[in-house]
Amino acid sequence: MDANSTAGTTRLLIDARSLATNVRTLRRVCQASTQITAVIKADAYGHDARLIAELLDLVDEDGPFTRIDGFAVATAEEAAALGDVTKPIMLLRPIENVFLGSQREALEYAIRRGWTLTLASPAAAADVARVALHLQTRAKVQIMLDTGMVRCGCPVDQFDTLLERTLGHANLKLVGVCTHFVNGEVASDPLTSRQIRLFDAAINAHAILENIPKHACNSGGVFTAPRAHYDMVRPGLSLYGIDPSGRPNLDRPLVPIMKWTAPVMAIHDVQPGQGVGYNHTWTAQVPSKIALLPVGYADGYPRAASNKAIVMLNGVPCGVVGRVSMDMTMIDVTRVADVCIGDEVTLVDSDPLSPASLYKLCQATDMIPYEILTGIGARVQRVPIGVEADVLMNQEND
Ligand SMILES: *Cc1c(COP(=O)(O)O)cnc(C)c1O
Repeated sequence: MDANSTAGTTRLLIDARSLATNVRTLRRVCQASTQITAVIKADAYGHDARLIAELLDLVDEDGPFTRIDGFAVATAEEAAALGDVTKPIMLLRPIENVFLGSQREALEYAIRRGWTLTLASPAAAADVARVALHLQTRAKVQIMLDTGMVRCGCPVDQFDTLLERTLGHANLKLVGVCTHFVNGEVASDPLTSRQIRLFDAAINAHAILENIPKHACNSGGVFTAPRAHYDMVRPGLSLYGIDPSGRPNLDRPLVPIMKWTAPVMAIHDVQPGQGVGYNHTWTAQVPSKIALLPVGYADGYPRAASNKAIVMLNGVPCGVVGRVSMDMTMIDVTRVADVCIGDEVTLVDSDPLSPASLYKLCQATDMIPYEILTGIGARVQRVPIGVEADVLMNQEND
């Protein structure tokens, strides 16, 4: 699949060069010794995890400034979907309820593949140890500490017990201790300082942890809490070029790696007073030209964008008019000269300062970037650009 053969459909153009720029920006704010684990869960935030893993491998060949040290996903199923990956993989969602449904099977597979499992409870440590014993191997595990999130992770007052149990199981190999920030994207947040203090106190109480890698930072933390980079950082959103602060920050250039496009499918002339789309939520005030796009909320273009969001056509900002429907969306192209069927409309722009940037779409819809990106549907073709098509072997073989 390449940028020519997919013209005429709705697609995400994913730029390998921008991905390299973002890795470079992340590397620049980290010490050379800090490892970067690329978070590619939820299909790499909608960008296609397998493609992103491959592009990161290619980018990596450019040298130490674009190096990625490993990958993080949420589940064993997500890791399996990556295909052949040589770098270390960690599964972020803590292992629990190993014996429910098909979980045991997935866990066995993960252990055999040598993926790092996240532990948050002594029960999980015992379960993983038992499965590893059965497989006659050692499972790689990391302990996640809850320092304030109250989502997942071992409460700090139970850390000693969990650590002791983990180290006590001959079939477990402890390869990390980590935590996760509540307000990582907020600069100088007192809660982040408190979380760092709790994390440090828990770790420093155990000399045995001195040589075990520690990590805490998501994208927000990478920029706001350099003192908490420890041995590794876990950026997700910033890799895809979106600033964790929710707006472009020219001091730390992150370039959105994707541009979401759709072709003009039809053009309608409408007269003043004519309503457009479901429930006629938009009515023409002047003679208008309306273009139809083959993309809707089933593709993840938010329904909340109805009558609010801006898209770009031939460099002109155009408003989304009427309700975004399941498979189609209409835009007002009255001010665009010479619109033709097949013209490519940019729904979400890779220019962070564009009126159609993801930041602007988030403002218009009251959504967050994570939500929009992970909602992009399966009908939208993911198309790599900025790299020779034949370099992407696995893609060709799919
Ligand atoms: C998703 C996730 C990340 C990445 O977060 P971003 O804000 O996208 O950088 C890091 N760590 C953990 C534990 C996560 O779940």
